[in-house]
Amino acid sequence: MDEFEVIQRYFATGFPARDDVVLGVGDDGALTRLAPGEELVTVSDALVAGTHFPAQLAAGAIAHRALAANLSDLAAMGAGPRWFTLALALPEAKEAWLAAFAAGLRRLADRFGLALIGGDTVRGPLAVTITAMGTVAAGTALRRDGARSGDRIFVTGTPGDAGWAWQAFADGRGLSADDPLYQRFAFPDPRVAEGAALRGIATAAIDLSDGLHVDLARLLAASGVGGEADVDAVPRSAALTERAGETRATELALTGGDDYELCFTIPAEKESALAALAASWPCRLTQIGRVVAEPGLRWRRNGEYLPTPDVSFRHF
Ligand code: ADP
Ligand code: MG
Repeated sequence: MDEFEVIQRYFATGFPARDDVVLGVGDDGALTRLAPGEELVTVSDALVAGTHFPAQLAAGAIAHRALAANLSDLAAMGAGPRWFTLALALPEAKEAWLAAFAAGLRRLADRFGLALIGGDTVRGPLAVTITAMGTVAAGTALRRDGARSGDRIFVTGTPGDAGWAWQAFADGRGLSADDPLYQRFAFPDPRVAEGAALRGIATAAIDLSDGLHVDLARLLAASGVGGEADVDAVPRSAALTERAGETRATELALTGGDDYELCFTIPAEKESALAALAASWPCRLTQIGRVVAEPGLRWRRNGEYLPTPDVSFRHF
């Protein structure tokens, strides 16, 4: 198969059709339509084999992770996903691999109604770069820089699960496909509806890709504030605690990456509005701390400050 055949067979058709796509795959560029009053939100994530995922990871999981990472960025902006492009570097064009990759991509694109509008297909070491676009009503996007002293800090889901799986790959331990921690690494569930629902409620938001401590510290720094958070309030899955033990589970929840959960701040008076919203969410939602005026993120346990988590060591 040459480049043209790969595109025609796997990427030119089969993805959601949208009437805001004027011109999709096939020309030099794609044309899409925005309504007046909308702002375009553009995000991009490059996933390189050996750096961001083990090359042996199932093709469907590679595709899912690549699109999910982008959807998670859109979620953190509160955007509704619409279109994406795919730049694919492949060492060789293997039919079974490409079929599984395209199927994994299509499953997630179908779920969120995303049209694939273009890309590039080249020979090279395995890497998947997706650029996704979504929209928000002008002025309503969630940003990192709006947190204010006194706001409450929340996190969705159970951070640390994907970090444990990553560690297992790095250590050369096999993971079975039905292992819940493998599932959390391979098939993250981007919090798209949750992010969109937070517009008008959250003052700032970020998605967790580099670990809760690092990402929350980024949000606080962007907002020119600090935070105090309770280590024991950070939710951990039963699967993680069982496998890693309490101490390691806590470390992973703070420093493991690839969670694709949302971390956000809300003013105290929005707490009941948030609780009403989150009652229908499929994921956990947990308050882990508060925003304070003094810069920096400090973790506490039983009222005592803990040393800053060690984030210097990241695999690959
Ligand atoms: P050009 O050389 O003009 O960049 P290409 O031959 O690379 O065009 O691509 C032809 C068409 O196929 C373009 O519309 C491009 O956006 C699309 N395309 C290429 N690779 C992919 C891909 N992996 N997924 C989706 N569309 C793709
Ligand atoms: Mg090209």
